[in-house]
Amino acid sequence: MNNIILIAPPAAGKGTQAALLKEKYNMVHISTGDLLRLEAQEDTERGKYIADLLSHGKLIDDSIVLELLEKKLNESDCDNGYILDGFPRTKDQAILLDELSNRLNKNIDYVIFLDIDRDKAMKRSLGRVSCPECKAIYNEYFDTFKEIGFCNKCGTKLDKRTDDNEETFNNRYDSYIKMTEPVVEYYKSKGILHIVDSSFDKEYTLSQIEKIIGDNND
Ligand code: AMP
Repeated sequence: MNNIILIAPPAAGKGTQAALLKEKYNMVHISTGDLLRLEAQEDTERGKYIADLLSHGKLIDDSIVLELLEKKLNESDCDNGYILDGFPRTKDQAILLDELSNRLNKNIDYVIFLDIDRDKAMKRSLGRVSCPECKAIYNEYFDTFKEIGFCNKCGTKLDKRTDDNEETFNNRYDSYIKMTEPVVEYYKSKGILHIVDSSFDKEYTLSQIEKIIGDNND
């Protein structure tokens, strides 16, 4: 089984691809954004601190993210292969991850970069809604609904993430350019970076990822 990192600008489809890979290959999907959103619901100083940074699209301290990540990687189901979505976001985090994955003997096999231009990513972000119950993800611009505002699968009222607005998207995109592009260079120099065009539909993107990981993922 493989351990994979997905890297992409905000709203490029990391979460969607991770969910598809999870379903097909039974890998564990680790989204640091999800881990942090969960932590932000805690009624503690730390929870409130994280919630505030999240709502402004700012990066959370390495020590907090790393602690949540280590806890998750230590769970035994990660032995079947894991998909990291949203980590590392900076070169410092990439170096911390090398150390952590080495120590836990769960090294990274592939880094997959989902490439998409800014305008398309913004449209995906502003239209994104998800089901709090069954976790299905939709886009208000591209998907059709049996009943507008409700999940096609289970009928629950759909949620919009607090960071899916134009101002926060721009903050997140700018932070991505500044902080995450060096991560792409870091993995390129290690020879494990693969680039996939993520501007088409999710099935096409998945098929490109499978071409990269396919043979080793049985
Ligand atoms: P995501 O769900 O990956 O789009 O992440 C949502 C938000 O969670 C980001 O805008 C950051 O505020 C925070 N976040 C997620 N991953 C990290 C990380 N690796 N380091 C710092 N902050 C993160």
